[in-house]
Amino acid sequence: MMRESMRTHDTRRSLSVVVPVYNEMEVLPEFHRRVCAVLATLDMNSQIIYVNDGSTDRTLEVIHELDARQAQVQLVDLSRNFGKEIALTAGLDHADSDAVIVIDADLQDPPELIPELVSHWLDGYDVVYAKRTQRDGEGVVKRATAFLFYRLMQKISRVAIPEDTGDFRLLSRRAVDAIKQLREQHRFMKGLFAWIGYPQKAVPYRRAGRFAGTTKWNYWKLWNFALEGITSFTGEPLKVATYAGLTSALVALTYGAYFAVRTLLYGNPVPGYPSLVVIILFLGGVQLLSIGIIGEYLARLFDESKKRPLYFLKSGRHAAPFRLAAPAVAAAAEPHEECAER
Ligand code: UDP
Ligand code: MG
Repeated sequence: MMRESMRTHDTRRSLSVVVPVYNEMEVLPEFHRRVCAVLATLDMNSQIIYVNDGSTDRTLEVIHELDARQAQVQLVDLSRNFGKEIALTAGLDHADSDAVIVIDADLQDPPELIPELVSHWLDGYDVVYAKRTQRDGEGVVKRATAFLFYRLMQKISRVAIPEDTGDFRLLSRRAVDAIKQLREQHRFMKGLFAWIGYPQKAVPYRRAGRFAGTTKWNYWKLWNFALEGITSFTGEPLKVATYAGLTSALVALTYGAYFAVRTLLYGNPVPGYPSLVVIILFLGGVQLLSIGIIGEYLARLFDESKKRPLYFLKSGRHAAPFRLAAPAVAAAAEPHEECAER
């Protein structure tokens, strides 16, 4: 069906697994073992790309230890912590395989699902995403806020962003090439994955708790993530000011007319101090809120207008805006069997 975009290396297809890692030294060996075990069952040239997102623990050494044993491990070392979205983008920039799997290092995304993602890709889907049916190890509040966020996004955004979906997915070559052209600084990845279009397919799975280590998320970060999602994909909140202003103006007009009539009929006994304070506070609040919303968009516009590169690599190589040179480690051609035993 949509096979024209897939390149083949000696009749076999190639697969890259992109893993953003930030302080994951406890999980990484186990993660690597499980991914290798899964890749060994696939009849494909495979490669794992670890993107070290400025880890401050021994993560880099752990990756190098993996590297020494397995030739098909590639390391992309960022110059500092850029955040998961950009780490992921750096990984996609360095993958040159027919399909790319994006997966978290903390084993919340089961690597055992990869063969199923691959099989749907072989059926012709460009984006095969894993959809959570259950979230173990996450509290009621986190689940409820996640639920609300996805429903809200669904309502106000023009692109249908699949709910209960993380970044764990498979992307075909043409989907990766499409994503690589989106160089915005504020990267709401699951929105971008949906935005590119192409045939997309959901695969349900049960999300596990973290294997080890702690999540890098807290509620303040989650709130900002939600803001990122909303401001990246819809301008609806900007309309709030218009309608709030219109409503309060209408209320003020009606109220004014009422006072005019009442003064004409009964004179003016000087009441109304509380109502005055309420009105002033209300209008002040609406105005500040509206300025705040405009500010959220303006700040993002400011960031985008600088047109800075998304990231730098430790090696000093500059991240080109669209296409990078082929990765230094020519690993895709290595057989993956030896990966299984370690
Ligand atoms: N991560 C990253 N940079 C960061 C934060 C996280 O590369 O600044 C990676 C992290 O190592 C993991 C993935 O992104 O592989 C998901 O992170 P985490 O488990 O903390 O997020 P959650 O699962 O709670 O959404
Ligand atoms: Mg996690």
